[in-house]
Parts: sequence; structure tokens; C-alpha cells
Amino acid sequence: MTQLEMIDTYRHKGLRKQLVEGIRQKGIRDESVLAALEKIPRHYFMDSSFLEFAYQDKPFPIGSGQTISQPFTVAFQTELLQMKKGMKVLEIGTGSGYQASVLAEMGARVYSIERQRKLYQKTKEFMTRLGYPVKLFLGDGYLGLPSFAPFDRIIITAAAPEIPQPLVDQLKPGGILVVPHGKDDIQHMLRIIKNADGTTKEESHGAFRFVPLLGDLGND
Ligand code: SAM
Repeated sequence: MTQLEMIDTYRHKGLRKQLVEGIRQKGIRDESVLAALEKIPRHYFMDSSFLEFAYQDKPFPIGSGQTISQPFTVAFQTELLQMKKGMKVLEIGTGSGYQASVLAEMGARVYSIERQRKLYQKTKEFMTRLGYPVKLFLGDGYLGLPSFAPFDRIIITAAAPEIPQPLVDQLKPGGILVVPHGKDDIQHMLRIIKNADGTTKEESHGAFRFVPLLGDLGND
């Protein structure tokens, strides 16, 4: 497992710079998002067999039937969040911990929920060594974290057939939820903005393909 090594060479840094330049050319404008992607060694989050591919703009398997999202998708969802330093952000779908690390690098106070025990344990151990102060939870992301709510921002990193109402309830007024929404292979990236009176406004930001959110906690 390369994760144990955590060596970031000039070659890695160079490849990362090129990757970020490509993502900029695909339309990401938020410099704080681009800077976080350039800073974080994505290869730390991947198994050694995929090290060569860490700086291609593609998703990759991380075990337990899951993937680390494509870097452009991470940048796109993060840009939609319109985050500011110090915000309290909830992520659904910790996976490798890469998205959570991007948020932490940008100064967010990050809470992240993973449903699969094996991934949760592996990523918790890894994130402890990496040193980002991200709070990780094992549980069903549909339910959010009522005891830590409300959140300024919520990001869902798996496809949601329905918008989870508990998560909308856990958003602050003025808060933003970003979610790939849809029942089919292709989802629409929605940005849901909660108004001061608790009503919501929805914007659609194009088509993406995510692994689905998993339901029942017993299946891992
Ligand atoms: N954000 C991750 C990263 O940076 O590596 C990638 C997320 S991966 C595309 C989707 C993740 O959501 C998987 O790790 C999966 O196990 C998790 N997941 C699926 N259903 C879930 C649920 N109901 N609650 C929490 N996590 C869930």
C-alpha cells in the first residue's frame, strides 16, 4: 500500500501542476479550489497499483466497490459550495478522504460520514497519519449528523435518488447543499440553497456519473 510511504516527489508535484492546469482549462475558476488540488498529493489516497494514474483526471477504485472521484468532479462540486474559511461542512461519502482533505485544506471544519466499515477504518487510520483535523463518522449519510447540525455547507459524493430531507433540515439558513441527483446512470449536479425562511431554491449544473448512495447499514 503506497499510502504507507507518503513521499511527494518533484515528479508528483509536476504532474499535479499539469493536472490542475487541465482542470482550470475545463472551466474551474475558484483559485482556492485549484490551490488545494495542487497542494494535496492525490497519490497518497490511492492503492499502489494505481500510483501511475493518480494525476490523470479520472476516477479510480479504492476498494469495497467504491471510487475516488475524478479530480475535475471534486473541483466542480467544491466550487459549487462557495465555501469560506472556518465554515462547518458535512460530507456524505468519505471514501478515500481526498474530498474531505480538499475541504480541510481550504479552511473548512469538516465532518464526514462513511457507510462502509472497512473503508471507514482504513481512511480513519490514514487521515490520522495525514494530519488534517477531519472528524470521521461511520453511519448512514442519509441521516446526517443531527447532534452536530446545523452546517454551512453539505456535499454528497454519491448519487442520491432522492434529496435526503434530514440533510436539508441540517443546513443553516443561507446554507448550500451540493448533490448528484437522479435514479439513473447519469445524475444532475444540483445546488440547493436554503433561504432565510427555510424554503429552498434549486439549480442544476450539468450531468455527472457517480456510484449510488447505499441504503441499509447491514450490507457491509
Ligand atoms: N468523497 C470520496 C473521496 O474523496 O474519495 C469519494 C466518494 S465515493 C464516489 C462514494 C462514497 O460514498 C463511498 O465511499 C461509499 O461507500 C459512500 N457511501 C455510499 N452510501 C453512503 C451512505 N448512505 N452514507 C455514507 N456514505 C455512503
